[in-house]
Amino acid sequence: MIAENLKHILKTIPEHVTLVAVSKTKPCTDIQQAYDAGQRIFGENKVQEMVEKYEKLPKDIEWHMIGHLQRNKVKYMAEFVSLIHGVDSFKTLKEIDKQARKHDRKINCLLQVHIAKEETKFGLSPEEIKEILNSEVFKSLENISIVGLMGMATFTDNQQQIASEFSSLKKLFDELKTTHNFNTLSMGMSGDYQLAIENGSTMVRIGSSIFGHRNYN
Ligand SMILES: *Cc1c(COP(=O)(O)O)cnc(C)c1O
Repeated sequence: MIAENLKHILKTIPEHVTLVAVSKTKPCTDIQQAYDAGQRIFGENKVQEMVEKYEKLPKDIEWHMIGHLQRNKVKYMAEFVSLIHGVDSFKTLKEIDKQARKHDRKINCLLQVHIAKEETKFGLSPEEIKEILNSEVFKSLENISIVGLMGMATFTDNQQQIASEFSSLKKLFDELKTTHNFNTLSMGMSGDYQLAIENGSTMVRIGSSIFGHRNYN
């Protein structure tokens, strides 16, 4: 089932778009099935859960942290995480840099932009992002690399609103790309990834369409 879902999703994604299989709450056996079908990039939103899965599963998996980050948890994943999507404060960025240095690594990060109308969603404003990218402190951080942006659209049936939120993020991405080494625009989930790709996404984060609905009990 998982292998079939994956195959089906991959057929709908152009080659230049990277698929992150979002495996949060799902057991290692499910991840192993996707792995056996060829998938190597997995996304988790809780550090502890990602660490446990990292320890049990094949070492060539690329682990992406897609959830909201608590600064005190960064140290547990600094050794192996391959991309952190949800960086939404300068303090967190500095902590990632510090922990990456301990492992003599450079950790790739995406800045999360607040594009949704919902107050509950995390993320920085375009102004805050420019402030970070232009600051001297940022330029001195040698163990992190900001490779792009991440955003989540409003949870709504209004396709026009979702499209316009994605396209505003793409605009910001293109603007910043002229002065920064950006290559990744992470936007799109099971319900809206096609719209995200139409609006310039280069990385989609898909969970339930691959692994089935999540049970949070
Ligand atoms: C859970 C989650 C996803 C995947 O959601 P689905 O609707 O199951 O595809 C994508 N991005 C983030 C940030 C998530 O937390």
